[in-house]
Amino acid sequence: MKNIILHPESTVFGVAPTDRLSGAPEGHQPEDILPDSNSVVVLGLKMLDAQMELQSTGGDYYSRSLREKMIGGHISFISLELDRMGYKIATYLEREGFKTFHQLSTEGGVDDRYLLGLMSLKHAAEAAGIGVFGKNSLLLTPEYGPRVRLTAILTDAEIESDKQLSKDLCQECRICIETCPAEALSEPEDNSLYQIDKFLCCNSRGARASCRECLTKCPVGKNRSERFL
Ligand code: SF4
Ligand code: SF4
Repeated sequence: MKNIILHPESTVFGVAPTDRLSGAPEGHQPEDILPDSNSVVVLGLKMLDAQMELQSTGGDYYSRSLREKMIGGHISFISLELDRMGYKIATYLEREGFKTFHQLSTEGGVDDRYLLGLMSLKHAAEAAGIGVFGKNSLLLTPEYGPRVRLTAILTDAEIESDKQLSKDLCQECRICIETCPAEALSEPEDNSLYQIDKFLCCNSRGARASCRECLTKCPVGKNRSERFL
């Protein structure tokens, strides 16, 4: 299946059995979306670090708006690429006689009650061993940190699954907590992986158009040389 993917150098890939997602809210569980589903295939593409950091480089109103367009366009482009790759996998599985549902990267949609899409892509990716949750509430991949976009295919095919990662990628770091302009992040307590006030975050994002501080400042996956040692 990996041979179907077009960008092996910047792709993350994993498979999870759907029972690893049984804790999802009602209406968002794999069974609610595709009855008799057995596996979820997740893939992600990295975003360009410098492109995502454009917003923090200052400039006047017009130049900032151009930068926002470059960031938004980059995210849209990657999402489209991912959906093309996901479609190839989904149609391949369908040709083999399996049912498939494609959770799109381009059109996730948001359920306002839980602020999540029909199927949570980051939970699916965590279940598929692609990464772990960071204190910023995002999926951290060892390779690229949180700077990945994701898509997923739910299927009734039984596909060999990947092991979940158990690594703590945050350790003593608190950068996202300390730099969040909305103070929406705090040190996780009671064995939780992260603590975020989603409404503070959303309100702040509404006011600032596009806060991505916790995505761009995260040091995980930034040191390319470490990845190749
Ligand atoms: S997106 Fe911005 S406001 Fe929301 S948690 Fe991240 S840093 Fe805080
Ligand atoms: S910035 Fe630091 S604490 Fe926050 S998610 Fe990244 S590694 Fe974890």
